[in-house]
Amino acid sequence: MKKTEISFDEIPGSAISLTKLTICLKCAFDFFTKQLNLANRTAYIELKKHVPEEYDFTGAATGRPHFFAGEETSHCPYCNGPKRWFAAFTAIRIDAHPSFEKQRKKVWAALKKEKERYTLWAVERTGMQIFSEWLERLKRSMDMDGEEWLLEAAMAQIKRSHPAVKWDDLLTEGLRRVQLSSRIESDWSYEKGRLIISPVLYGDALIVQHLLSRSHMHGGTTFEGRLTLHELVNRLRRIGYMEARGIEAADPYEVFEHVVAALVASGPSAVYYAVDRDNFLTKLKTVYDKRRDK
Ligand SMILES: [Zn+2]
Repeated sequence: MKKTEISFDEIPGSAISLTKLTICLKCAFDFFTKQLNLANRTAYIELKKHVPEEYDFTGAATGRPHFFAGEETSHCPYCNGPKRWFAAFTAIRIDAHPSFEKQRKKVWAALKKEKERYTLWAVERTGMQIFSEWLERLKRSMDMDGEEWLLEAAMAQIKRSHPAVKWDDLLTEGLRRVQLSSRIESDWSYEKGRLIISPVLYGDALIVQHLLSRSHMHGGTTFEGRLTLHELVNRLRRIGYMEARGIEAADPYEVFEHVVAALVASGPSAVYYAVDRDNFLTKLKTVYDKRRDK
């Protein structure tokens, strides 16, 4: 039977993150056949049901027989078995947003029909947790030593709050600059590599840049240079961000709390996972067939 691939294209790319987790099938089989003394066939049947946990994918508690393999990983870190024992799971994580919930549900309905291949999870997360995890992923993907990341971070935040816009089609001449305009009627306009944005979008970008670089050596760096928390709050006030967001507090720390809460609320509100087991099931069968022939 020919495999029909389920397309994730209708879900905005900025809302999808992929994690590849490798499993060593030698370790996995050995666990059942040597430690539990089960027959090869029983081991195979048990393994076919296997799905790693979320903590394996996040790296929070990745343990035998799972690990993260790079191009250079040629042997299992646990049993030293060679690459031919490796199989991979791919976790497709969606940070869901009401603006594309209909499309996500459609993809999920298709995935549900492929029960053996895909395992689906809806995980409990607060908006704040989703936001922090997003910041972490963003930080890991960027080189924060140069200046390029400022633009990348701003764009990532703009995509986060407007995921349904087809940004890649819209930015036909690339993105060279992001500029604030307090007179702009809509949220943004784009012309010749310049993205002109409203005070809310610009302020959001400054906050995200500030949060990302806080723990870095150039702490607090933004489009407006390096800013302390007080300076950032003042800058946001001056561009009309507080007014647009309806934030009235006076104490800078309290203001910052409100600012971050508003930013969190403007983004995704739920997390869904689809774990693709295609590669795992194929490799598992190959390994099992070889063991059976012995
Ligand atoms: Zn191993």
